[in-house]
Formats: sequence, C-alpha cells, structure tokens
Amino acid sequence: MTEINHNFDYEVIRSNRRTLSIEVHHQKVKVRAPQGAPNDWIEGFVYQKAKWIARKLVEQAQRDESRLKLQDGEVISFMGQVRHLTIKEGVNRIQLTDDKLQISNKDLSYESLKKQLDRWLLAQAKERLPQRVETMAGTMGLARKLSGVRFRKTKTQWGHCTAKGIVQLNQLILLTPTHIIDYLIVHELCHLKHLNHSKRFWKLVEKHCPDYQQAEVWLKQYGHSVWF
Ligand SMILES: [Zn+2]
Repeated sequence: MTEINHNFDYEVIRSNRRTLSIEVHHQKVKVRAPQGAPNDWIEGFVYQKAKWIARKLVEQAQRDESRLKLQDGEVISFMGQVRHLTIKEGVNRIQLTDDKLQISNKDLSYESLKKQLDRWLLAQAKERLPQRVETMAGTMGLARKLSGVRFRKTKTQWGHCTAKGIVQLNQLILLTPTHIIDYLIVHELCHLKHLNHSKRFWKLVEKHCPDYQQAEVWLKQYGHSVWF
C-alpha cells in the first residue's frame, strides 16, 4: 500500500447537521461537519478520503488547464470550423475570418477580453441560432410548442427548457463541433415534449439524434475546454 500524505488544505464548515461530507470544487476542499464534531473525527474522515480528494484535485486542475485562456495563438472551433485566435492591442473589435478570430482591445487583460468575447458570442448566438432551432423544431414536429429561444451563459448548463416552451441555450455551444450544437438543440427541443430525463425523453432524443450518446461523451470529456 502506498502512503497517503494529504498535502492539501481544507476548510471546515460547521452547521446543524449530523454527518460529515466532503466537497471538492474549484480546487478547494470543504468539509461539512456537525457543530460539535471533534477535530480528530474530522481529520480521520479526511484522511480516509484523501485518495479520492487527491484524484478530484488533479482532475479539476487538468480541467482548468484545458480551459480557454484567451491567448494569442490559441486554437478554437467556431460554428464547427477551426480558427486561430489572434489578440492584439487596438480599438475594441472582433473579426471573424475563415481561419481566424481576431480580437483587438485596448485592455488585453483576461477579464477585459472575456467580457468582450462574451458580448460578441451572445450577439453571434442571437444572429445564428434561433433560425436553426426553429427549423429543427419544425422538422421534429414541435414548432407549435416552441415559444421562444433565449441565450444565457451559465456556469453549469448548456441549455434549459421551460414549461412555457422557451428554449434557453448557452452561447458557448457555438464553440463546440456542429454535431454537438445540433445535439444540444435537439436535447432542449425534446424537453418541449418531456420536461424530464425519462426513458421516453431519451427515446425521442435518439430518434432525432441517433448518435446522442457519443455527443454526451464528448461533452463530458471536452465540454469544459470551451469554457472561459
Ligand atoms: Zn435535459
């Protein structure tokens, strides 16, 4: 057996609960514990879970590593086509060519570029995607159930569908391959009929997107790489 030394810090959050639990998010370890839990009980618990925690930390570090850094020369996909990111100082502008996404900004800090690209992606999504969603809804015989298409960049979701027939998509889907964009649209459109992930829901998804399982695998494996 290998020796486990846990070289990570963790934060203990005490509350009115009866059990201990561990969370690893954004490379931080949090232990939730009952108010009066003795420290050595908590320490022992963390020690027991050290291997699992270490694995999670590595996984999350790798994810962060593969995220978009918005650096000159980075390669991205936009609407299914490979583009090289060029970033230079200048008037605030984004230009899309066949093989490049050229960003110029007076302020080249990550935060400023992020804001600029966010705004641009939202505008692109509004321009390019509603038509595609409506056409697909028509093909799927769901046009009458669709009452609108909205966009929102959330931290955890690719899309969402409301009981009122509004399909909401994360504009980051523009940075995924085309078959993933289509899968995500099909997925949300199928929620117009089934507002759950029941067997019937997945049957309907499969009918309109036979390769949906591969798309799900892609999203799990590479989805985080389009996040910034
Ligand atoms: Zn869903």
